[in-house]
Amino acid sequence: MKYRFHTYAELAANLQEGNLIVEEYAVKREAFMAGIPEDAVYRELDRRIAVTRASLIKGLESPQKSRSGLTRGAAVAFARTERRLVKDRLWRRAASYALAINEVNACGGKIVSFPTAGSSGIVPGLIWAWWDSRTGPEKPEPAPAPDPDPVPPMLDPPYNPKLRGAFLVASLTGVLIAQGATLAGSEGGCQAECGGAGAMGACALAYLENRPLEECFSAAALSLKNSLGLACDPVAGLVEVPCVKRNAFVTVNALMAVDLTLAGVYSIIPFDEVVSAMKQIGDSMPAAIKENANGGLALTPTGLSFREQPDSRGSL
Ligand code: SF4
Repeated sequence: MKYRFHTYAELAANLQEGNLIVEEYAVKREAFMAGIPEDAVYRELDRRIAVTRASLIKGLESPQKSRSGLTRGAAVAFARTERRLVKDRLWRRAASYALAINEVNACGGKIVSFPTAGSSGIVPGLIWAWWDSRTGPEKPEPAPAPDPDPVPPMLDPPYNPKLRGAFLVASLTGVLIAQGATLAGSEGGCQAECGGAGAMGACALAYLENRPLEECFSAAALSLKNSLGLACDPVAGLVEVPCVKRNAFVTVNALMAVDLTLAGVYSIIPFDEVVSAMKQIGDSMPAAIKENANGGLALTPTGLSFREQPDSRGSL
């Protein structure tokens, strides 16, 4: 069994050669790379999935407010409001879950860096939103959904194989981006962090929708293409603005990528080539917009004011 791959094409060839489905391959590969048994991989996977669930609950139970004043409980506000333009439950849950997890990160709480702390809300936000909207006690869906959404309950391991599979597929997508380009904002800008997470989440959701792997990676390509060139310009050097709200925006990006895929609209540029383009763009970005807080939003008058003192002005 070959566990090394640098492109989606190589990953697909390894899967074919080993006659394995992608989630089995991901676990065998992890066991091989870490030198541990497969059941230990599943235990660790479940432990981390549980952390993602706990962090989204924490972020929705009460407004998360950071010492800097940049994080102000946007997740709770968004989840509880009855004023909504878009009523779709999956859409709003994905955004509120992503906000919740990333606000917990901004306030020093426990999250899973998946793939990074700054983008930690996107993949689990998407997967758990799909899970809560498509399975569980709400299925079959009752007549009009209660609005606003209640805080979801904790779900304990062992987790459903399909749910595990979604996290594993997202992980392999991240491995491909890391190997072909980078997942670090300091190297490739936010296209790498939040853009990479959006691609991972889109791939996972297409998997949950039972699309073939080639289509899952087309969804990943669509999502990543729409994040190319995204600057990393965190205000005051803190992972809060634009990071927290960007987690919500990128979930919507990923949902659109999956919806296009389900409609049979695929990426003209293959996933591997999009990753190469991301690397080329990242390499040509100025250092000021690669996590140095020396450009973009960080240098706006308001952004600069947060360098000196915490602030509680303004909106959520
Ligand atoms: S703006 Fe920078 S720090 Fe914030 S999530 Fe994006 S890459 Fe991370």
